[in-house]
Amino acid sequence: MKVKMKIAENINAMNRRMEGYPCRLVAISKTKTNGEILEAYQAGQRIFGENKVQELAQKYEQLPKDIEWHMVGHLQTNKVKYIAPFVTLIHAVDSWKLLKEVDKQARNNNRQILCLLQVHIAEEETKFGLSKEEIFVLLHREDLSELKNIRIQGLMGMATFTEDEEKIRREFRFLKSIFDGIAESIHHEHVEMKELSMGMTGDYQIAMEEGSTLVRIGTAVFGERNLA
Ligand SMILES: *Cc1c(COP(=O)(O)O)cnc(C)c1O
Repeated sequence: MKVKMKIAENINAMNRRMEGYPCRLVAISKTKTNGEILEAYQAGQRIFGENKVQELAQKYEQLPKDIEWHMVGHLQTNKVKYIAPFVTLIHAVDSWKLLKEVDKQARNNNRQILCLLQVHIAEEETKFGLSKEEIFVLLHREDLSELKNIRIQGLMGMATFTEDEEKIRREFRFLKSIFDGIAESIHHEHVEMKELSMGMTGDYQIAMEEGSTLVRIGTAVFGERNLA
């Protein structure tokens, strides 16, 4: 019972910390059980994020239908079809090819899927994402107008995993500057800079201060994950 209360407490604590910021909580439930997710749900949480297609599709089937599901991880083109019937927001679109496939699968399901473009802001080579230049090339493509079943709603980024808070802050600030630059210069019916997905358990406070609208929080909600 103690453990049970903890997730609800964590959700409430996160909501308190987010007060005064225009920010929403995406509870990252990867590796967590349906029981744990329902505890968060009962505390009022409705937005959940996963980073693996199969796990996401399974949880969607088994859990309440008013949950808004976000795909936050790297997404392979050939797996889009499994989440296209229900996913609300895809955070990490990192290629034109993937965006086209999301559009195609959204059309097959008669729906619209919201997308964020992932920008590479960390120094680590391993993190996915597009450069600032690649983002602008994509947004200037003439055939973007043909993708009628997607909407680009903003950007997502992951800062370097480091203790150096100034470095993290610089990376988030860089992402926000791209976000603002697009908002000012791109006027396209399929593009609207509404959401800035940045901040995880270790760096969400800095992310909120730098303009995040969606923080993706796993550990601070559900506790440590078992790296099985
Ligand atoms: C796992 C994950 C998170 C959450 O990480 P925590 O440090 O546990 O908050 C956020 N974003 C993405 C893309 C993830 O894969």
